[in-house]
Amino acid sequence: MSQDPVVIVTTSWDDGHSADLRVAELLAAHGLKATFYVAFNHPNRKEISDGEIRMLYRAGMEIGSHTLTHRLLTGRPAAEVHHELKESRMRLEDIVGAPVTAFSYPQGAFTAVARAALAETGYRLGRSTIAFRTAYDFDPFLMPISLEFCPYSRFAITRHALRDGNLAGLTHWARVAKLETDPLSLARLMFDEILLRGGIFHVNARSWEIDKNKLWDQLDDMARYIAGHPAIHHATNSEVLSFYN
Ligand SMILES: [Zn+2]
Repeated sequence: MSQDPVVIVTTSWDDGHSADLRVAELLAAHGLKATFYVAFNHPNRKEISDGEIRMLYRAGMEIGSHTLTHRLLTGRPAAEVHHELKESRMRLEDIVGAPVTAFSYPQGAFTAVARAALAETGYRLGRSTIAFRTAYDFDPFLMPISLEFCPYSRFAITRHALRDGNLAGLTHWARVAKLETDPLSLARLMFDEILLRGGIFHVNARSWEIDKNKLWDQLDDMARYIAGHPAIHHATNSEVLSFYN
């Protein structure tokens, strides 16, 4: 007797930018959900306003923290890391009027100190950029992703995976996606594999980068491709955690 595999689709968006609203609208049109990770003082970009953050939240999306300053957490004293985590969470909770329990590491750079600090400052989830992962069971403070929706070179993807010690991801990328780098093709290959075997399909990107790389049509194509399959559970990042509880 065979059982249909369980497929969960989630997306996450880093940095906090006004273009997040366009992403939310596009995803919602296809029934997809998202977690938007906001950094307050990201250099070289337009900030998202408090009102825009509230609009995302009221549209059913999750708001998470991406630190105050977007500085890397690596190599910094624990007290500073705690301050970044705690202060950003409190500011976001003031804005949305609800608990904020999800966090994404700037540039995906995690450390043992930062990982431990998450639990100590009230978070339940820490999203990394450990890529090409699809398994249901994962460390909630190092939540992996399936792919970044961004046209990186093979070299950049490999270097990033090696930094994260992610040999399993590299193997999966080679086996399932034949080292594909085009975001839409890569997403389709990864999604088809999950449809077959079950798992979590987690797409990560930054809205300002979608805009810069003119990937809006491809993002829409991907969302439509996923939405075409009926037996899928759509979730924010934190809803993925609670899915089996
Ligand atoms: Zn970022």
